[in-house]
Amino acid sequence: MDNLMQPFSLRVSEILDHAARYHPRRKIISRNVEGPIVETDWNAVYLKAKKLSKALQKLGIKKGDRIGVMAWNTARHLELWYGIPGSGAVNHTLNPRLFAKQLTYIINHAEDKILMIDLDLVKILEEILPTCKTVEQIIVLTDNINMPKSNLPNLLCYEELVENEDSDFSWVKGHETEACGICYTSGTTGNPKGVVYTHRSNVLHALASATPDMINLSSTDRIMPVVPLFHANGWSIGYTAPLVGASMVMPGREMTPEALFEMLEKGVTVTAAVPTIWLLLLNYLKTNNLKLSSLKRVIIGGSSCPRAVIETFQKDFGVQVFHAWGMTEMSPLGTICSFKPEVLNLSEEERISIQETTGHPPFTVELKLTDDDGTKLKTDGQTQGKLWARGAAVVQQYLKIDEEAVDHDGWFDTGDVATIDENGYMSITDRSKDIIKSGGEWISSIELENAAVGHPKIVEAAAIGVSHPKWDERPILVVVCEKGEMVQPKEITDFMSDYIAKWQIPDDIIFVDEIPHTATGKISKMGIRQILKKQDYQHPDKRQ
Ligand code: ADP
Repeated sequence: MDNLMQPFSLRVSEILDHAARYHPRRKIISRNVEGPIVETDWNAVYLKAKKLSKALQKLGIKKGDRIGVMAWNTARHLELWYGIPGSGAVNHTLNPRLFAKQLTYIINHAEDKILMIDLDLVKILEEILPTCKTVEQIIVLTDNINMPKSNLPNLLCYEELVENEDSDFSWVKGHETEACGICYTSGTTGNPKGVVYTHRSNVLHALASATPDMINLSSTDRIMPVVPLFHANGWSIGYTAPLVGASMVMPGREMTPEALFEMLEKGVTVTAAVPTIWLLLLNYLKTNNLKLSSLKRVIIGGSSCPRAVIETFQKDFGVQVFHAWGMTEMSPLGTICSFKPEVLNLSEEERISIQETTGHPPFTVELKLTDDDGTKLKTDGQTQGKLWARGAAVVQQYLKIDEEAVDHDGWFDTGDVATIDENGYMSITDRSKDIIKSGGEWISSIELENAAVGHPKIVEAAAIGVSHPKWDERPILVVVCEKGEMVQPKEITDFMSDYIAKWQIPDDIIFVDEIPHTATGKISKMGIRQILKKQDYQHPDKRQ
């Protein structure tokens, strides 16, 4: 039969059109990079995005051209999220915390034609621009008064550029499978790899993540993405919020607990970030005897969320935790931990144990576990295996890499090791390269780390496997203690033995002032190995 339905195109411009049409006055409160906290709304974002699209076209931008954006979470950045794809160009998010060499690599690799950057990041660009081969124009995200003095060539002022245009502009049309955005993986092994999101994948992903068992977002919410828009597609919040007409708070570049608390108190009901951010915030709230007056839900992902964080949020602050797992390659949502009927009536403690898992997938995501040979494994909550994913917003192929990133059945190897239980709740045990293989058994470094950070005097812990003459590998633990606190190694291992089997207890504990992190704020196991190598570290059994 013929298709008799309308050809509605799943392009992200439709999302902003909807927000401006039906939720125009929903507030967006934003801490500008220049300093002040300003207010705007979806209608104003829509009008400025249109002006930007028009200005970009006048600058010669054509369909499919890449525009690099290096910016913090502000309302202006949201204008770019729609103004760039609306002009037909592709929004390439850049992480300013990357090393200069990596930034140059990805700007050249993506062939960015224009760079749009926040005021305080101009310095980074001054350093790397001579090595960026394709960049023709730079736009500084500020107004005329705050334009920096810089010797960068072809510098334009964003506010001036936009204000010189009117908003009489029709979004560039095209197929929904055209490229919309690019985000590079953090490149923990080798060069970063480009993931190209399409308009369609972003719209479907935003629809899926808004649903009640996922972020459960609505027009009555005010959401604050602490996770930067340049990290893993900004967890898609820049699309999900306008799709449901939610209000937003954009925290800018200030990531201190004081600054985040100030912004959370602007009526935020939902927020999202990696566990480290919340560890610091909870500490700050407790020390200063503060309460959260409007926050109801917090989405925590990017790395494993310790039980202590879930407990403190829920028991001390009345904020419900939603533990999530995802990847840049998955746009990024893979799973969120909400309660299905099967677990709803468990005791509070049992439910917190469920929340330590990363939960279950939304519609559009499918997961499976296999052994190293590709044989499908049981989903009994115990059996660990390689985790594979398939779905509407999962990578098929990386930018400019000829080979597909999926197997013959379309499954993408996530590089994670996981278990899945009978109700579909998935737990990440490790990255496959980080799992510790001791005497033929697998020890989860994540489990060891979570057991250790439950200790009140430990701020951060990282477990790695080191080579051992008898067991192949044995775990050791690198620990950062609270400032001014001393803990004996035995006190730590005794504490951990309540949570893990005896044979999994680390053989050695190394105290450090700081653990190295990746550009996306995760523990860098590679960095730790480099430090140990420099010190010529040997397992205690290998020392004379
Ligand atoms: P990268 O850090 O490599 O840039 P991503 O931000 O895309 O890339 O990180 C994806 C990886 O982060 C996942 O494959 C997984 O190893 C880890 N991860 C994400 N969420 C969780 C979680 N809730 N628990 C444990 N690991 C997680």
